[in-house]
Amino acid sequence: MKKGKETSGTKADRTMITRKRGRRRSEQKLLSLSQSKVSHWEEKLWEYDITMPTSRIRDEMTKEMLREGFTKSEINRIFKGIFFKEKVFNTKTQAVEFLRSLGKTYAVKYKIGIKPSAKMESLKKKIAMKEEKLKAYEEVHLSRKFETEFVVCASCRSRISRKYIKPPLCPVCGEDMRGEAVLKKAEALRQSVQALKVSYEREARRHNSKFTGGERWIIRTITPEISG
Ligand SMILES: [Zn+2]
Repeated sequence: MKKGKETSGTKADRTMITRKRGRRRSEQKLLSLSQSKVSHWEEKLWEYDITMPTSRIRDEMTKEMLREGFTKSEINRIFKGIFFKEKVFNTKTQAVEFLRSLGKTYAVKYKIGIKPSAKMESLKKKIAMKEEKLKAYEEVHLSRKFETEFVVCASCRSRISRKYIKPPLCPVCGEDMRGEAVLKKAEALRQSVQALKVSYEREARRHNSKFTGGERWIIRTITPEISG
């Protein structure tokens, strides 16, 4: 699935997802590495245009990691064993799944620019609608529940001043004040969004496998050795 800009190999071309460490671990790391400026990711996904030479990709990544506060030796350890595999996955999700199954920094490609099938388009619309519905439901029944001066407990019906409540638990009965029915409904909505996403991914893999579109590098770097 194409996402707007496919500009050629510049810094702007790179998109990243990082997985943050838990606060506790990063605090521990701060203690042990108090000299260096600490970065907080233990996994990061980088994407580059297929036209960019792998040596330049490495240079760009190195520059970015230096900016983030990694030392040169840390960067060498992150790059240790990096391999740009000439393997093309049908979808980005499939590529990421593969990369996450490896315990090291690695690079593969995934297909881009293939016109989605009608089924993909319709699933995409359904996902957007369901997500919207879930968001609205959560806002009304979960988030806003505790924004009023008094809150009524859905389990024991007590009406309690907000200042005595530690959400989501009821100080009287100890249950979740939002109530089982509401929580179940929200969970059901979440699950149906998830199920639609699984269907979409299955369809995208099937559809894309029939075409050769453009390609894009995706690199996953991990920091197991320096995460302490
Ligand atoms: Zn209660």
